Amino acid sequence: MSKSLIIGQGITGSVLAWSLHWEDKTVHVLDRGRNITASRIAAGLVTPFTGRRQSKAGDFDESLTVAKEFYRRVETETGASLFNEEPAERYFQDDIERDFFLKERYETHRSEIELINGANGGVKGFRMLRAARLRVSTFLEVTRSFFAEKGCFHQFDLDPTTDLEVSESSVRVPKLAFVGQEIYFCQGYQPEENPWFPEIPDAPARGEILRLEIPDRTVKQVVHQGFWLAPGTEEREDGLPQEYLLGATYDRENLDQKETQNGRDELLRGLYEITTENSRVIAQYSAIRAGMRNRQPIAARHATYPHVGILNGMGSKASLMAPITARRFVKLMALKPETKGQENRATGAKGLSLTKLAHSIVRRAVRMGDTVMDATAGNGHDTVFLAACTGPSGHVHAIDIQPEAIQSTRTRLETESITHVTLHQDDHSQVLKSLLASSEVAGAIMFNLGYLPGGNKQRTTSTATTTEAIAAGVSLLRAGGVMTVIAYRGHAGGQEEARAVADWSENNKAPSWTTEVIPGAADNDESPVLYVYRKKQQSQPLS
Ligand SMILES: Cc1cc2nc3c(=O)[nH]c(=O)nc-3n(C[C@H](O)[C@H](O)[C@H](O)COP(=O)(O)OP(=O)(O)OC[C@H]3O[C@@H](n4cnc5c(N)ncnc54)[C@H](O)[C@@H]3O)c2cc1C
Repeated sequence: MSKSLIIGQGITGSVLAWSLHWEDKTVHVLDRGRNITASRIAAGLVTPFTGRRQSKAGDFDESLTVAKEFYRRVETETGASLFNEEPAERYFQDDIERDFFLKERYETHRSEIELINGANGGVKGFRMLRAARLRVSTFLEVTRSFFAEKGCFHQFDLDPTTDLEVSESSVRVPKLAFVGQEIYFCQGYQPEENPWFPEIPDAPARGEILRLEIPDRTVKQVVHQGFWLAPGTEEREDGLPQEYLLGATYDRENLDQKETQNGRDELLRGLYEITTENSRVIAQYSAIRAGMRNRQPIAARHATYPHVGILNGMGSKASLMAPITARRFVKLMALKPETKGQENRATGAKGLSLTKLAHSIVRRAVRMGDTVMDATAGNGHDTVFLAACTGPSGHVHAIDIQPEAIQSTRTRLETESITHVTLHQDDHSQVLKSLLASSEVAGAIMFNLGYLPGGNKQRTTSTATTTEAIAAGVSLLRAGGVMTVIAYRGHAGGQEEARAVADWSENNKAPSWTTEVIPGAADNDESPVLYVYRKKQQSQPLS
């Protein structure tokens, strides 16, 4: 029986854990155990018609059917009550909304809607008969208990860069003594990128909610009018809700997860539109939704290590979308790794490049104020990227032997008004050696080997100077610093150069740094290869 590890036990990780468990896999789940996460503050609402235009997603009905089936099965396994189909009310914010709805939506969706009339006899809103609600905290608790009872839940904060050992057929987390065959990242939004899947989620948004007491309120259903007001799960002796949840704000700019006065004011203004009953704020919460630009969850396997997967990007719809996406994902992961060029994702955007991966790795390592080096300036893209990582208090040395490359980089820097860069038109091994001789220390160094994009393909980096430059580069790195080298194998001389880098890496292992080799595609020996050299935090002498 194969053994899987899930990183993150929010709604997504929990849904995936059950889905894999039902496929007869031994599933281990780990979570760092924070009290406030998107899942922990979510109201669990499943809402068919959303937004000003009251649109209904094309796959809503199928997703709801799968979600119902899924949560019913967990209810059977655990005895908990989790998923309720509860009609919700939607009130129009103005006449434009009402007229649009009656003209564009009503006829098509008549069977799943009831109109609500106002005191003056006009239509003031509609009842969504197919709305539903997940009791999120109960779902998270019963899931955790279920896997904990099997000894398969671990409270652990995993660093995907240093705590994981992934080979072609296994996954190990030595600190947990875990050895398995598959690993799945279900981390929601994290301020620090996961180097296995950089830039996911690509459209996070902060959401704030309020917990309220509204003593005189007798309404028990969820009401939407711009914001939503939903009863809490606990009831008073008279059968009315003890408290209500009011949500949710939407902020793509500020992703620091702090509660804000603006958020509170915005929500209370929204509450006033829904009800003028007396209320008291009990608490305010803020968390980041993990959304994707294309509004589709992402379910993907790693391009090189197909037993490493990601399920994420549920946006505001985890309760509805996690079950159907997990079902598709489990099917995808059961397939043999696909042949080259084929889409490797159940949903979502195209594959990730080694360049993006290198950027993600470097971004995590560089500190503001660092000195860094672009050892192959080329057209200046990495120079600009590095300059952004260090900020103006840091410094970038950009090196290229070709005058066209230096000119192109200079132009790009001028366009971007970046001044904290020194350009060196010289052989990179010489420049790096002389920086080393002058006791310079680097937070990061980047190499993109091969020829100048758009330039003469005969003029490439040379094998001898490349390995000398790499040797100097490793010595320049500070503790915690990182050097990335992308070797392209598809052009004349590319294979030799990549082999020379591989040989150098193999023959120059040292206790003070680690080397990772990440091929662009496991089954294509012409695909690029990324070498990542990391200087360990507690640096030791190189020899
Ligand atoms: C205010 C607000 C209201 C919402 N309301 C609703 C709603 O009504 N209905 C709905 O369907 N959706 C709602 N959402 C959206 C929903 O909350 C998210 O889509 C969902 O919670 C995402 O779940 P997740 O498991 O992907 O991520 P998360 O909830 O972020 O869970 C990820 C988990 O992984 C853990 N983790 C991450 N990295 C590591 C690591 N390296 N090591 C260990 N653990 C790790 C985290 O601690 C966390 O527990 C709302 C969101 C917000 C912010």
